[in-house]
Amino acid sequence: MTKLDCTVTNCLHNADNCCCKQAIIVDGHSAHDCSETCCGSFDENKEGAFKNVFKTPESRLEIDCEAVNCIYNEGRHCQAEHINVSGDGASRSEHTQCATFKER
Ligand code: SF4
Ligand code: SF4
Repeated sequence: MTKLDCTVTNCLHNADNCCCKQAIIVDGHSAHDCSETCCGSFDENKEGAFKNVFKTPESRLEIDCEAVNCIYNEGRHCQAEHINVSGDGASRSEHTQCATFKER
């Protein structure tokens, strides 16, 4: 399980810069750089519509990851102790990225 901080505050699943999902998918099969990865579990919170919905940030979660060129990827699963997902202001998953990606 990986600790995750996420600055994508307009994602439906974000609360207090953490993710409220128990598992996410990171995309970026042919990524050679952070900017070529993205959080495939991103859902836009249009106009803050769900702002008041009770959400519980998960301190650690399972991360399935397609970015096989990353040193932390083992069998399409993230083995990093801690990752950062960024993309403040994102309206599509392509606008987000795993900032911890490191090429093998
Ligand atoms: S962008 Fe991804 S990691 Fe961040 S809160 Fe949304 S689903 Fe979770
Ligand atoms: S650190 Fe690497 S393996 Fe982990 S989610 Fe980010 S890109 Fe995928």
